[in-house]
Amino acid sequence: MACTCGGIISNVLYPCDTEGELIGEGNSESAHKEVTERIINYIQTIESGKAEEWRKKHYGESAIAATVHQEVISDILQEELTKYEKSVAECEKCGRLWIQIEQYKNEYLAYFPDNGRYNAVCKKFKKKNA
Ligand SMILES: [Zn+2]
Repeated sequence: MACTCGGIISNVLYPCDTEGELIGEGNSESAHKEVTERIINYIQTIESGKAEEWRKKHYGESAIAATVHQEVISDILQEELTKYEKSVAECEKCGRLWIQIEQYKNEYLAYFPDNGRYNAVCKKFKKKNA
């Protein structure tokens, strides 16, 4: 993505330190609710002995053996969050945050930081001990 300052925001690597997602409180609440409901539904399916049938329906006959619970839950999380998130890209040259205006559209609006520099907003941080 080309920035107003002339910098280029690259997203070739994954995960990328300059790419992220933005989710508002209302959408976050909806996503958490739907993720929880789908995971509970999957657990109930496992408990009823129909997990293989469920995976066959969602992944197709050939993928059943290779699809483990961790993968199913990861897919549920990804699918639900994607429904509610907007993409964010941060310019390393000037610090502008480019936020997707509308989901599934390649249109972004820039927000310039008060300190006028790159702030590594999207960079992965180390977990803090609770
Ligand atoms: Zn820039």
